[in-house]
Formats: sequence, C-alpha cells, structure tokens
Amino acid sequence: MILRNIAALVGPALRHVHRTTISMSDTFASIKKGSRVGSVDCEGLVAIPGLINSHTHIGDSVAKDIGAGRDAAWRIHPVYGAKRKVLESTDPRTIVRYMRQTISSMLECGTTTFVDFREGGTGGIALLRRALAARPIRAVVLGRIESYDSALRVRKNAKPDPGRRAEVDALLAECDGLGISGANENSDASLRQYSLTPKLRAIHAAETANGGRFSMRNTGRSEVARALLADPHFVIHMTQATRAQMRSVARRTRGVVVCPRANASLAEGGPDIAALAGAGCNVALGTDNVMLNSPDLLAEMDYAWKAGMARAHAPIDPRDILCMATINAGRMLGKKIGAISPGMAADCVLIDMSDIDMAPTHNIHAAIVGRATKRTIRAVIIGGKLVRGRI
Ligand SMILES: [Zn+2]
Repeated sequence: MILRNIAALVGPALRHVHRTTISMSDTFASIKKGSRVGSVDCEGLVAIPGLINSHTHIGDSVAKDIGAGRDAAWRIHPVYGAKRKVLESTDPRTIVRYMRQTISSMLECGTTTFVDFREGGTGGIALLRRALAARPIRAVVLGRIESYDSALRVRKNAKPDPGRRAEVDALLAECDGLGISGANENSDASLRQYSLTPKLRAIHAAETANGGRFSMRNTGRSEVARALLADPHFVIHMTQATRAQMRSVARRTRGVVVCPRANASLAEGGPDIAALAGAGCNVALGTDNVMLNSPDLLAEMDYAWKAGMARAHAPIDPRDILCMATINAGRMLGKKIGAISPGMAADCVLIDMSDIDMAPTHNIHAAIVGRATKRTIRAVIIGGKLVRGRI
C-alpha cells in the first residue's frame, strides 16, 4: 500500500511531517516526499502509529460495572473478588462473545496491539484464542496459573507445589509469557520460580494502598520490592509507589504500565506519570479490566494527560503521552511495533484532521491526545492491510 499527500507522526520522536508518501507492505518501507504510481491520496489525514494497549483483562468484558462503587478487593481481588466468581460461573461461550465485542471496540478506537493478562490457566488462554480467531488485531497473551499462596504461606516463604513447574511449562507453551497477579498472594519461592521462566514476565504492583499495607504487615517488605523477585520485564500500576521504588523499577525492568482511569474508578488515586518518567521509568499505558473501564486508548490518553498534569501541578508534553501508547510500549515489549519507521510493522491509524472536533489544529500532538475520538478515525491499518474504515 502507498499513501500519498498524507501528514504523519514519524520515527521515535513522533515528528510531524507534512505531505509525505508512506510505502508499506507488512512493514513500513519508506516515508518520503514525492508521489508514486498506485498511491492513494490522503489529503487531510494524519497517520499516527497504531496504538498499543499495554494492559487489559478482556476476559471480564462480561462483568461490566459489577460492583461499581465498591473497593478494589471486593471487585477484582484475584482470590476472592467478584470478578473471579463471575468468570468461574459464566458459560465459556458467553465469555468469548463479549471478548470478541471488546476486540472490535479496541480496533474501532485505533488499538492495533493489546497485551492481555488472561486468567484461568490454559483453558482461559484457549477462550481468548477463540475470541481472536480471524480478528486482525495483534495480541500479546500473558497467562496465569490459578494457584495462590495464603498469607501464612507467604509469611513462611512456602515452596510451590512440586507440580507447579510442569503447570507453568504447559501454560507457557500456549502463550507469550506470565501475567502474575501480584506479590501478596505469592511466596518469595513462588516469585523466584516465575523469575526463571523463559518468556515475558509482568506483574501488578502498588495498585492499592491496602495492598501495600498488607505486604508490610505480612512480610515486613514492600509490595514493589517483593514483585521484583519475579524479575519482571514490566510492572503494572505503581500508583502508590515511592520515588525510591520508582527508581528501582526503572533500573530493573523495561517499563511500567499505568492505568489511570482504572485506578480512578477504584478510588485509588492515580499514577504520578511525571515522577515515574523523572525516575527513569519507560512508561506505557493500559486500560486494565473491561469490568472497570472502557478499552478506549484515546480516552485513556486524554485522561492520563490532564490528570497527570493535575497531579504534578506542572505541564506534561502531550507528545510524551502519545509515546506511552506507541513508542514506549513497543520498546517495553521488545517488538518492532509502535513507530512509523522503515522496518517496523506497518500498523497505523489515519485520523481525519478536518473533523469538526479537530480543525483547526495548532498542536498536532495535543489535538490527537486531547480531542481525537473513535469518530475522527478514518481508517486502521495493521501489517499493511486496511482492517477498519476506508481511504
Ligand atoms: Zn490488571
């Protein structure tokens, strides 16, 4: 595909170029001036990298807003929360049907890759694969062993059951890595066992104030320090983290995924995006549980930008927010996605800058982060193929 006469945010700095020509097959081939034979005229459109939702749980799409107004533990605790009960008591076909709906919703909102924490072991992964069948979106699937250590086992640093190793191997044969629920329900020995696995490792940490207090009470150590025992490639949330914890995560991982709207929906405050970036963290963005929050990264960017500035009492460059949903996420995942650059996967979203909410545009990054909606998306391209809309 060749797109001519198009504006674009190119390279790792999302540099704004005008009236360019983008050639692509499954990867981007070139971005340069000059019209080419067979090209499509894209006057008025801007190409941005396909958005990467770095943290979702789409399995709970069936449980939208259950327990709205209740606290985090009541709603989403991995062992006794409402979410687990709903997932266990719902017919698998119904779970798949609503996961498919969420995949469609993400595509319509410009998400070209999502990273899912899939509960339910190999069976849970099989359901997600069914929902993904024939869907063009890219998915990074992080599975979970549904066995947890009690507070007593954590305190005594109990060793995992002898069968756990084989269970983990069987799980990893089906997916891209581990999405570990958190440190509080895993002993040091369990977390260390996870640290030795060969694929991606990610873990929730410092999401709730209660979780942090529990960790100190039960083990005398912080939740973040214990989460790092799993040697994660990236950590989810860090909403309650101290500056020292942010610095240690920056040193020892590839990134932090923040989920500001999900945190707010649980009345847990919000991530300090400016402080995380200042501590050296590579910050990416996720929408978290569909039960809590819509899977719309455009809405997430708008909220992250404004709530981030409200918290920091200082301006945040909207380009940095767009990087969180594109460039930073690709780097964190270690994949050639998230940028419009030669050699990267040809995933992009074409936004109509003549839309009534977009024109006139005085700051392209602010316009996309703060004003773009599903309606302003003219087309979504994944791997060089048009998967939504028309041009
Ligand atoms: Zn999560």
